[in-house]
Amino acid sequence: MKFKIKNSWIIVCYTVGILLCGCSNPEPAKPNLVYIFPDQFRKQAMGFWEKPGYENAIRTIGDPVETPELDRFANEAVVLTNMVSNAPICSPHRGSLLTGMFPGASGVPLNCNSNRPVSSLRKDAVCFSDVLDQQGYNTAYFGKWHLDYPKPNDPINPGNYVDPRTPAWDAYTPEEDRHGFQHWYSYGTWDVHKDPHYYNNQGQRTEPKEWSPKHEANQVIAYLKNEKGQRDPEKPFAVFVSMNPPHNPYNSLNDCEEKDYNLYKDKLTKELLVRPNADLEMDKARKAAFYFANVTGVSREFGRIIDQLKNMGEYENTVIVFTSDHGETMCSHGINDPKNNIYTEAFDVPFLIRYPGLKAHRLDDLIMGSPDIMPTLLGVMGLQDFIPTEVQGTNYTRVLKGESDKNRPKSALYIRNIDGQKDSSGKVIDYFPVARGVKTHSYTIELQIDSNQKLVGTKFFNDIDDPYQMNNLPVKSDDPVVIGLLKEMVYWLKKSDDPWYQQKILSDWIDYKTDL
Ligand code: CA
Repeated sequence: MKFKIKNSWIIVCYTVGILLCGCSNPEPAKPNLVYIFPDQFRKQAMGFWEKPGYENAIRTIGDPVETPELDRFANEAVVLTNMVSNAPICSPHRGSLLTGMFPGASGVPLNCNSNRPVSSLRKDAVCFSDVLDQQGYNTAYFGKWHLDYPKPNDPINPGNYVDPRTPAWDAYTPEEDRHGFQHWYSYGTWDVHKDPHYYNNQGQRTEPKEWSPKHEANQVIAYLKNEKGQRDPEKPFAVFVSMNPPHNPYNSLNDCEEKDYNLYKDKLTKELLVRPNADLEMDKARKAAFYFANVTGVSREFGRIIDQLKNMGEYENTVIVFTSDHGETMCSHGINDPKNNIYTEAFDVPFLIRYPGLKAHRLDDLIMGSPDIMPTLLGVMGLQDFIPTEVQGTNYTRVLKGESDKNRPKSALYIRNIDGQKDSSGKVIDYFPVARGVKTHSYTIELQIDSNQKLVGTKFFNDIDDPYQMNNLPVKSDDPVVIGLLKEMVYWLKKSDDPWYQQKILSDWIDYKTDL
């Protein structure tokens, strides 16, 4: 009898316990995601690199920029010092972000425009946003998309491109191509920073005549406030914000906010372009003040979104990322092209991530690449079981949590593709893999081929001794360092089933039989 009473009492306690905590095995709340990636924002252009706590974090000097909001955020975030954009131009990076695949598999090997049907986000790919949609998230996309082959589907003028230029770059993305994004406020690609336009869920076009990052931050804040019932407040949210600045043009006050320009306008070119590899005689050198003004403005608009998360009590339950699709050379190495090269100014990007489950204020030299973003963020969000099987990137959640990870990579693959063959109407029907390379913590190497697949150029830098990459070393096939770097490259070419691996390109230089 006594035993029975004791047992009943245990059952009562257990039942009360269940009632108090709501269920016997409560599901942890899913975290929100806010992913902000301005375009062409180079890693060096963040003010905190020159502040205490970041000495020598990136081996070279940081740009003389004011980014107080990013600096504050960095102090609470995990900051990656070696994040790269594997194919450092717009569309290929974005394809990898959404699919977790390298550009050869994502469907997006080249920048998208109406001459390149060969480059368009695969409709059948299970994208990051598809997974979030399936997992019960409110999903939203704001800003530049630039992931589809533009079609003549202007919702205002049916049968026409939204972009009058030839080839058309800008595009309207109909609902069936939005890959699970439920709330849409976006455009294809358009570079007039104070005269942007957007298409909403229904295809209505808005032309707000406002500096685009400010306008987009306003839209994001309104979405978070849910003033118009844009989202289901019972569900977590996943918000992607692709601001166009500091992408060019950066020529005048037409491209940035005057208060930001005033921070830089009285500085000499040599005070702004402080990297010893910068060519101060280039025409572009005078534009540095406008580029940095856009950087400062983007930092402020990022900070406004952060403030909204804090005001609504969601800051501690939101995975927040600040990064970019590629960097910006800004006169380094004397080249005009801001991107699409292996130099650190273009290849490296910012990557700051904050979530209470990650150890804060920690610099990590993890060499992470574009296809790793989706699996890693799904891992951080506790959704690792839903990483699509086709994903080629790696989930580095353990690294971000400060745990040891045997999968920590030694290098990242560099990819540069150009247009391949064209059909009789001039449309590009395949791509040519003109250059491949790798970067390790110590070296950067690139091999470039001509149309006959012969070696026509190399870049090879000792990034320890020569962090500004000013001394292009000779590439010798019997150099053990070169052999080791090319082994690393074979590992990635094989993993991504790259055309170089498929066709065994430069097999007189590269031993495809001995990957790591
Ligand atoms: Ca871009």
